[in-house]
Amino acid sequence: MPLFLLDRDGVVVVNRKDNIKTPAGLQLIPGAAEAIARLNGAGFDVAVCTNQPEVARGAMSADELDVVHEALTAMLAAKGARIGRILCCTCYRKSPRMKPAAGMLREALANYGARAADTPFVGDQLADLKAAFHAGCPRVLVRTGLGRKALEQGLPQYLEPVAVHDDLAAAVDAHLGNPGGRGDIPSAP
Ligand SMILES: [Mg+2]
Repeated sequence: MPLFLLDRDGVVVVNRKDNIKTPAGLQLIPGAAEAIARLNGAGFDVAVCTNQPEVARGAMSADELDVVHEALTAMLAAKGARIGRILCCTCYRKSPRMKPAAGMLREALANYGARAADTPFVGDQLADLKAAFHAGCPRVLVRTGLGRKALEQGLPQYLEPVAVHDDLAAAVDAHLGNPGGRGDIPSAP
C-alpha cells in the first residue's frame, strides 16, 4: 500500500504556542481530516512524524502525549480519516530521529515497507523539508501553520523541488490528480 507521511502541528492540527498538552488543545485544520480520508479512499496508508520535545523538557509526560494522540486518532476517525502510526521524537536535543534528521521518517518507511521516493512528506517548517530530503522523500510544504513564514524566509536551493500548497487538502488534491486541485506549484527560486 502506498504511504503518505504528515507532520502534525501546522499540517493536521493548528499550532499552539504553548504546545498541545491535552485533547482540549486539539483543533483540526479545516479540510485536513477530509484530505486524509481521501488518501485512505485512494488506498494510502497515512502516518504522522512529529517532534515533541516538550516531553523531554518535562512540560508534559509521555502518557499525556499518548492521550493527545489517542484523541487525535479518534477525532479523525469520526470524520472517516484513518491514520496508522503516530511516530514521535520526544528528544530535547538533536537526535538522529529528530527532524531535520531523517531517522523518524526512515522508521516510518520501514514500518510500512514503503519506498522513500514514492512517499511524500508534508510539513510546514524547514526542518520537515530537510528531514524529507535526507530520507529521500518528495517534499511538500503547506502554507498553514508556520509554512508561510518558512516561504518568506526562503528555502535552500538543495531542497528543490518543493511542492507548495495552501493546505493539506490542496496538497492531497494535487497528489491524487483530482479535478479542482491546483496542481503542484513549485516554490519561487
Ligand atoms: Mg509543524
